[in-house]
Amino acid sequence: MTYRFVFVIGGVISGLGKGIFTASLSKTLQLAGYSVNPIKIDPYLNVDAGTMRPTEHGEVWVTYDGGEIDQDLGTYERFLGIKFSKENNLTSGKILWKVINDERHGRYLGKTVQYIPHVLDAIEDYLVKLAQKSKADINLVEVGGTVGDYEIGLFLHTVVRMMRKYQCAVIFMGYLLYPPHIRELKTKPLQHSLSALFSYGIYPDILVVRTPSTLDTPRLEKITKFSGLPKEKIFALPDIDNIYKIPLNIIKHKGVIKTLEDSLGIKIEKRLNLLPKLKEYATFIKEIERLEKNQNKIGIGIVGKYFGTGDYVLTDSYISVIESIKFASWQAKQPVDIRWIDSTTIDENTQDEELKNRFQDIKAIIVPGGFGSTGVSGKLRTIRFARENKIPYLGLCYGMQLAIVEFARNVLGLKNANTTEIDKDTPHPVIDILPEQKNILEGKRYGASMRLGEYKAYVLPNSLVFKLYKARNRLLKDKKGYYVIERHRHRYEVNPEYHEILQQKGLIFSGVSEDKRLVEFIELDQKIHPFFVATQAHPEFTSYLQDPNPMFWGLIKSASS
Ligand code: GLN
Repeated sequence: MTYRFVFVIGGVISGLGKGIFTASLSKTLQLAGYSVNPIKIDPYLNVDAGTMRPTEHGEVWVTYDGGEIDQDLGTYERFLGIKFSKENNLTSGKILWKVINDERHGRYLGKTVQYIPHVLDAIEDYLVKLAQKSKADINLVEVGGTVGDYEIGLFLHTVVRMMRKYQCAVIFMGYLLYPPHIRELKTKPLQHSLSALFSYGIYPDILVVRTPSTLDTPRLEKITKFSGLPKEKIFALPDIDNIYKIPLNIIKHKGVIKTLEDSLGIKIEKRLNLLPKLKEYATFIKEIERLEKNQNKIGIGIVGKYFGTGDYVLTDSYISVIESIKFASWQAKQPVDIRWIDSTTIDENTQDEELKNRFQDIKAIIVPGGFGSTGVSGKLRTIRFARENKIPYLGLCYGMQLAIVEFARNVLGLKNANTTEIDKDTPHPVIDILPEQKNILEGKRYGASMRLGEYKAYVLPNSLVFKLYKARNRLLKDKKGYYVIERHRHRYEVNPEYHEILQQKGLIFSGVSEDKRLVEFIELDQKIHPFFVATQAHPEFTSYLQDPNPMFWGLIKSASS
């Protein structure tokens, strides 16, 4: 069997949007009816991203099989509507670990173990095994980092040898800088990084030129000269408002499509025209654009704490939540305006009047996941405000734990109720680490000391959560009843000692683990509150471009009614 690989390599700067491009190209191939398997290579030495601080790495993505992974896997999943294993992320750490481990177990039979060939063998072997396992028609390998980085070398050497063995296409992505004092697009850095790529013996089939604005003819001509590629194989990719439009732009570029067809031995254009998928997708994108132009937007507030350096950090830290809101808004045909509420600017003494003012045109509130005590009193105050004023509320993980703390304090009257994450000596540890979880967590030696990945939650028939998942076709059933599956990433749980009293006072446990020890979804009766729902899970990890997660969809529906 011939394996097909598309390698996406970047130059000039990091942050080019290689992940978005790889996902877009995968989408293009998917629209042509091919099965795709996108893989992300990260040249760093961490075995996975689980031990990295969010500020190092943006938001961590959690795979169904419990990997704490590079966010690019999230981009792939969102674009394609498919879930990928943690195996689809390969790091230098993972490869070197394997090689050294094999050496220690005598698997090299007395040979001198070297970077070349043994590490390259291990990389190739890993990629081919993934291709075999996925059985996908096309494997797309995004090589993280930038050409010229020392640590990317081993991967590029592997690309060279794979180019000769398998059906491959190499795409190089570079950037044209626009220095404000010159006010002109400069091509030289691209030229230099291409030379660096050539020095490995890699001559790309397609060049993707990222630019802050449109690429003009003189520059395009210059690029054809130093890249050795004709214009048809150069694809300009200026900054774009709606990234989901990129697959359509790729399809329009006949040269790129033709090159991919030739290099990979596939038929894209013919299939695109034969299948209905492209038309459907184009209609969907048009609809989004129409909706986004609509001025009747409703405000959706995200109460968070990662505000430090303005919007930039924010969008990076909450990207999955943001995209989930967008998908829900598009499906519900209700345009939204996402507002940031810095939880550190609110506390328990903030008066209702002030909150009413601040939340004036906010129609729904989300408290996303989080860790530690910063901004918690602001979140608690906001949750109370949403509950008492019947503003649709969605709590995600920490947002559910804090909803429980708020309910315990203000409805149950348990003063100083808390999560032991913040107050170890609280008289009412409504959120705590469960003894059985403690043992599981201690058993994990490395980074990951959390409940991670997919878990089943059995849902209460006819609860709001039940109805939402049913409406979006995500309700499953087995002998034990109806259930849903969501991903997790947390240490603490609702303390079972408080289960009864919380329920007695009207909190509905609409989703629980099979043994009922773990509370997975809570809600208030819709007679009391139109939409007060929270989950211990992270539904933002199962939101897809054309299939939003039911929780977000329900929130937007409720906010728009
Ligand atoms: N800090 C909480 C816990 O560890 C919630 C984590 C989260 O929101 N992902 O349980």
